Amino acid sequence: MLWTKTFIPTLRDDPADAELVSHKLLTRGGYIRKLTSGIYNYLPLMQRTLHKVMNIVREEMDASGAIEITMPVLHPAELWQKTGRWDTIGKEQMRMKDRHLRDMVLGATHEEVVTWIARGELKSYRQIPLNMYQIQVKFRDEIRPRYGLMRGREFIMKDAYTFDANEDGLKVAYNKMADAYFKAFNRCGLEVKMVESDVGNMGGFGAHEFMVPVTTAGGEEVILSCSSCDYAANVEKAQSVPLVESKRDEEHKTKEMIMTPDMRTIEEVTEYLKKPAEMLIKTLIYLADGKPVAVLIRGDRSINEIKLINYLRCLELEMAPPETILKLTGAQVGFSGPVGLTGLKIIADPEIKGMVNFVVGANKDDTHFINVNQDDFKVDDYVELRNAEAGEGCARCGRGHLEAYSGIEVGNLFMLGTKYSEALGATFVDEKGEEKPFVMGSYGIGITRTAQSAVEAFHDDKGIIWPKQIAPYDFHVIPLFMDNDQQREVAFQIRDDLEDAGYSVLIDDRDERPGVKFNDADLIGMPIRIAIGDRGLKEGVIEIIRRKDMQMEKVPVDQGATRAIEIWKEL
Ligand code: ATP
Ligand code: MG
Repeated sequence: MLWTKTFIPTLRDDPADAELVSHKLLTRGGYIRKLTSGIYNYLPLMQRTLHKVMNIVREEMDASGAIEITMPVLHPAELWQKTGRWDTIGKEQMRMKDRHLRDMVLGATHEEVVTWIARGELKSYRQIPLNMYQIQVKFRDEIRPRYGLMRGREFIMKDAYTFDANEDGLKVAYNKMADAYFKAFNRCGLEVKMVESDVGNMGGFGAHEFMVPVTTAGGEEVILSCSSCDYAANVEKAQSVPLVESKRDEEHKTKEMIMTPDMRTIEEVTEYLKKPAEMLIKTLIYLADGKPVAVLIRGDRSINEIKLINYLRCLELEMAPPETILKLTGAQVGFSGPVGLTGLKIIADPEIKGMVNFVVGANKDDTHFINVNQDDFKVDDYVELRNAEAGEGCARCGRGHLEAYSGIEVGNLFMLGTKYSEALGATFVDEKGEEKPFVMGSYGIGITRTAQSAVEAFHDDKGIIWPKQIAPYDFHVIPLFMDNDQQREVAFQIRDDLEDAGYSVLIDDRDERPGVKFNDADLIGMPIRIAIGDRGLKEGVIEIIRRKDMQMEKVPVDQGATRAIEIWKEL
């Protein structure tokens, strides 16, 4: 492809709204252009990379036995109302009315529609197991669309859905998808980690995410993995054995009310009382779907609201506003405590069971209790609600400790079970003639997010360094001066040789200065560059440059293409 015949609008400056390096590079490299918040045009280079990612994913899905279909983007709201997700997804769903004023939905995911297909077409155990997938655009009105293609409001996803007779069947299907994911991501040049994750509003009984570990700000997810066994989980889900065992053996003292004027935060109270944060209990008051609940957690811990939502089975969780806290506790924010607290459910992290002689708010302004013990108040339920932290013990093997790193979620797997098949009445008749709901799984890969993740993982201060498998072109040929006949001829000959061998080539045929061409080549990041200039041609050589480390090799003109291919293969 000639540069002048395609369309690569590189920019000198970073876009003002871009935070992530990958977002900046894709915009400056002429790959993407924002239409409006979270909605992007994929320009020619991006289109080629996306095609490569989609092809790899499609090949691995096909190889796993999944069958490709295409479902509609536009759905009747009714389907979503039947499964209850009309309410649970809420504002993230793009909605509209058709001309008959019927509610319609732009698909954010396709469990509802695929289950509708199964309900109509799959009747017998002989038709399953079945895995149906598609690669298609999705719409989500994200609260915070950001980071370019990473969190868009419109994006491309591969989504697959499995139908099995029972949980054993589902597990087989699930593992097959996990294998296919490893193969697909590795073929895209990405190293991925499979980690346990929360099921979220998808429902079901188990889930994993595929993460690309990164050290940049692009890692929106925090992962904790064990130093000794293969346990790895998203922090949303991770469990741990706390490192500091609270002292149990100390003699119980009698509780005492003390003045703590204007001391509201854990830091202020610890400083004032000269007691470590692990001697304090935080009492947090939430509204779960409008109903108040108090949560007790050790002072130095942070609460995991996802664990709390899962336990409470609520749709919306928010901190109670000051007036509600005043009404419930009789005190301002910062002085809540469990002693004498009534009229709401009190739940506690089990870690506090081991604490003695601790500090809590006294439900009275400017006052705390010290030397409080478990028998001074009542807890309705103990539930693990704290965030696991790096350095803590592994809850699985008990030997290792947890290490933290950040990652980008590029794919996930959900064991859905029968939530959707039951809600929509999708059943089959088993060998014994009994009618049963399908046991389902759901599996997504963010195609656009995966492509941008590769840039987040592989770049330098000059630009993108594409993994060769998903680079828009395999080779970037640069004749330094197009008006030099010899340079032009050699460049076109090498391009022909490379294309004949089955490789894709971008040739920079612009009348630009060599410096401009090289800077653009660094920026757009094809894996191998071939530069043809006067000085080299006088010695009968061309230069082959590896983008990843800028290592340069001079090669005789007539061996240029052959040697370039060798270097490409070694990448
Ligand atoms: P997240 O936690 O990042 O919001 P999710 O759990 O909502 O992701 P799924 O609904 O399981 O994601 O979607 C499957 C895949 O689609 C994700 O693993 C991710 O790669 C991709 N994806 C999800 N939301 C977006 C988005 N807003 N923009 C781009 N890709 C997305
Ligand atoms: Mg999401």
